[in-house]
Amino acid sequence: MRTPLIAGNWKMNTTTTEARVLASDLRGPLDSIEGVETVVCPPFVSLATVADALRRSSVKVGAQNMHYEAKGAFTGEIAPAMLADLCEYVILGHSERRHIFLEDDALVNKKVAAALSAGLKPILAVGERLEERNAGDTEQVITRQVRAGLAGIAADEALIIAYEPVWAIGTGIAASPEAAGETIGLVRRLVAELYGDEFAQALRILYGGSVTPDNIAELRAQREVDGGLVGGASLKATDFVSIVRQSAPAAG
Ligand code: PEP
Repeated sequence: MRTPLIAGNWKMNTTTTEARVLASDLRGPLDSIEGVETVVCPPFVSLATVADALRRSSVKVGAQNMHYEAKGAFTGEIAPAMLADLCEYVILGHSERRHIFLEDDALVNKKVAAALSAGLKPILAVGERLEERNAGDTEQVITRQVRAGLAGIAADEALIIAYEPVWAIGTGIAASPEAAGETIGLVRRLVAELYGDEFAQALRILYGGSVTPDNIAELRAQREVDGGLVGGASLKATDFVSIVRQSAPAAG
């Protein structure tokens, strides 16, 4: 059975002081929940503070992005090894990176390779835009993003994928549990084509896009949905804790 994983993407929110408070508020309640892996992804500048606040806690820390180069003249960028000192996970290919900062599949692929080489666990985000969905192109877009994102990458147990339909992110309109389950099933089949069935069956694939305490239970009831990548609701400790609690195997 795959251990469910709930990751909170704090995006460009929280000062360092606020990040410490949020991490401290999450620590006790999350440590008391068994059977779910939890990760919080604060802004870069708060990684050390949050890692410190969560020391010896079960809650893991992740970054929201990184550069693929090891070092050099890349003003404002953060290298994989810098993150590996501070955290375990890194979100790559988030739709805000793809669509606001124009990251394409080839760039995301380089980042996935670099993260794995640095010993980080990449959470590769894929998802279709509204116009692509309306045009009936979801399968084609997801197929392209998964194949391109993983091109040339060897099977690695550290990998996690998040299916995040762009139209569901920050809109309050989540995908239906059935649609989320169906597309995640597609992602798993694509991964099986690349790495075989055994690997695909062990891989955790999360759903992201307006996950809340009110919809997580029905999303998790889908066999294919192994957890969530949570944006807005991860900024409120009580909401995030509720999402994690409802994701535990015993809650299902
Ligand atoms: C996200 O940032 O990955 C996300 C899913 O955001 P939200 O939960 O706010 O839709």
